[in-house]
Amino acid sequence: MTLGTSTEPTAHAQSGGTGTVPSGLNWAAVQQALHAKVGEDDYRVWLSSLAVDKVSGEGLTLSVPTSFIQDWIERNYRDVLTETVHAEIGVTLPIRISVVPVFANLKAPAQVAAAPAAAPEEAVAEDASWTQSLRLDPRYTFASFVEGKSNQFAYAAARRVAEEGPQPGFNPFFLHGGVGLGKTHLMHAIGAEVMARRPKARVLYLSSEQFFNRFVRALRDRNTLTFKDSLRGVDVLMVDDLQFIAGKDATQEEFFHTFNFLTENGKQIILSADRSPHELPNVEDRLKSRLGSGLTVQVHAPEVETRLAILQKKAEDLRLDLPGEVLTLLATTIASNVRELEGALNRLVAASRLMGSELTTDFAREQLADLFRLHTRVVTVDDIQKAVADHFKLRLADMGSPRRAREVARPRQVAMYLCKTLTSKSYPDIGRAFGGRDHTTVIHAVETIEALVTKDAELAENVRILNALLGGKA
Ligand code: ADP
Ligand code: MG
Repeated sequence: MTLGTSTEPTAHAQSGGTGTVPSGLNWAAVQQALHAKVGEDDYRVWLSSLAVDKVSGEGLTLSVPTSFIQDWIERNYRDVLTETVHAEIGVTLPIRISVVPVFANLKAPAQVAAAPAAAPEEAVAEDASWTQSLRLDPRYTFASFVEGKSNQFAYAAARRVAEEGPQPGFNPFFLHGGVGLGKTHLMHAIGAEVMARRPKARVLYLSSEQFFNRFVRALRDRNTLTFKDSLRGVDVLMVDDLQFIAGKDATQEEFFHTFNFLTENGKQIILSADRSPHELPNVEDRLKSRLGSGLTVQVHAPEVETRLAILQKKAEDLRLDLPGEVLTLLATTIASNVRELEGALNRLVAASRLMGSELTTDFAREQLADLFRLHTRVVTVDDIQKAVADHFKLRLADMGSPRRAREVARPRQVAMYLCKTLTSKSYPDIGRAFGGRDHTTVIHAVETIEALVTKDAELAENVRILNALLGGKA
């Protein structure tokens, strides 16, 4: 058995219980009872690394750091474990023990897998259950990350941290931004890159919940290694979604010191949150300023070109040949977050396969009607001026400037035309928004563009693209 694989569910001893898990599983009480039953030494060696991985309607999943310990528990402590959990919560649950490696990249030492009867010391060598890393998602790499204006800085900084190791100005590296914007993706990418470059480096990636649960456990349980000591072997520590540390102030002092200890010892710390360090709720000022003392980078919502590029990449990765209009439609409509964008693409592809329908924009509108309703926003004159200036590589100020040169005047007319067709603004309103021009100028612009789109293919194409970008009917 190799590290990183989990066992199939075993010992599904069903009793008269309902099968539903009571919400308040007191794991500390289970640990205490186990400790009392098996004795100090056996507990410390074999059972102290057991941690709750997941409690759900299907049962309880516990984790251990190595398959050796997993195997030993299965063979020697399975019954006492089932009994003890049963006694604590009053129903018998399927209990599953999975292996979560100590470090994301720690390979099974050959002798452990080959010799299950090895001396206990070998098993406890890695016994500090809180240092179990979550697995890194192999899909989240730098190669699969699409760069754009919104995430350029975050991407470049992440690469630098991964490639060059801890540097004073980059530690901690703090990534923040709204949900679904690629923070976790970048953290995993850093992990993967560090491991590829330095196979011996130890990368520890945890959710903030796990981090703090383990932290608290380490503080409470004097038998385990101290928090700091157990971090000695870590080269890169990543804690995701730090906003959840809110309210755990009793541990903040210790966290602060641990944090200093790590950075002073040349360890790279990478953190993420949905907001910047100084906006974290219930965090002491001293800790806030420490968290923000390295490089803090915000990931922004991707602009439409990036959204389109992301969709194209996902479609390529899935070997899907999707019509450009459909991708454009999704990219222009779903603006807030990449996860949603991906979800929409998946939904659409599934629906078209299921129904054997061709993937057209009409089909997309029909299938994703709920999303479209949610995301259809009102286009403003501002949006139009920005989009047009961007598209024609002009400055936003050119929209309102008195310049009459053709390369500025024509795009300005396009923008006025779009304002008339995509918003409910009147001619005088539009004129005012374009540097206080007269309403007759706007009428003239609208008529000019209307005439030109029937004759000038290039202009027509530009108008079509802008229309699509702004969320009008393609
Ligand atoms: P966050 O952690 O910021 O909430 P995630 O990293 O989980 O967001 O990203 C959500 C989804 O969107 C993931 O599947 C991720 O791969 C994808 N994603 C986000 N940004 C990008 C990007 N720039 N390029 C490719 N995929 C992205
Ligand atoms: Mg995340």
